[in-house]
Amino acid sequence: MKFTRSGACVAMALAAIGFGGPGVDRASSAAGNGGTPVGARQVVGCTGGSGAAITSGPRSRPVVALTFDDGPSTTYTPAILSILNRLHASATFFEEGRHVAGNEALMRQILASGDEIGNHSFDHPRFPGYRELAATNRRIEEATGFTPCLFRPPYGLVDAKVAVAAQRTHLQTILWDVDSRDDKHPGVATIHSNAVGLAQPGSIILMHDGGHHPQTVAALPGIIRGLQARGFRFATVTALLGGRFVYRGH
Ligand SMILES: [Zn+2]
Repeated sequence: MKFTRSGACVAMALAAIGFGGPGVDRASSAAGNGGTPVGARQVVGCTGGSGAAITSGPRSRPVVALTFDDGPSTTYTPAILSILNRLHASATFFEEGRHVAGNEALMRQILASGDEIGNHSFDHPRFPGYRELAATNRRIEEATGFTPCLFRPPYGLVDAKVAVAAQRTHLQTILWDVDSRDDKHPGVATIHSNAVGLAQPGSIILMHDGGHHPQTVAALPGIIRGLQARGFRFATVTALLGGRFVYRGH
């Protein structure tokens, strides 16, 4: 049974998002599933793929979402997760399907820490299609029991094909409004000032854990403290957008 791990532990994931789409109340749908039997895998919600890309949350509350793309990475993700946990910040990891194998425990650790996992295509092509997105969802589901609600297109590129693929896989497309530019390796101070200085209420901040990103890891504690000093709190992207994200595993 693929959702049973050693020690007969069972992961159960409930995910629900509500982006205020007409006639759909996904949060209520999740709340109505309180009687899910232990040991069953149940995924609810995640039907919010409207095709319209979102770049930020509401500007009315001092909450921001840290996002990390291109992982999971055995080199950088554990360090990032440990910093997030130490400084009580949550984040969203947009992962590539090709990096799932061998990182299953790490991915369950991400979710168990209260951080979210989203889909970043299988192998990072420009303009991925339905099969790419569906295959990535499948890999993430098999590893964690959790079905992503969110999709971040590689390079932030969205065309009609990508929009249809996201809709067919019930994924909400998430871009960003603050780019730390950590993928350009500009140095810790610049990554810090990009992320902290450009953030506004509701910002979705782009960073990376996959690839070669030692500067990101070095900058992260200062970024979290800097944003906290500006009065910001942290949320997963789903929570930032007013949705509900629940993972129960042990
Ligand atoms: Zn990427």
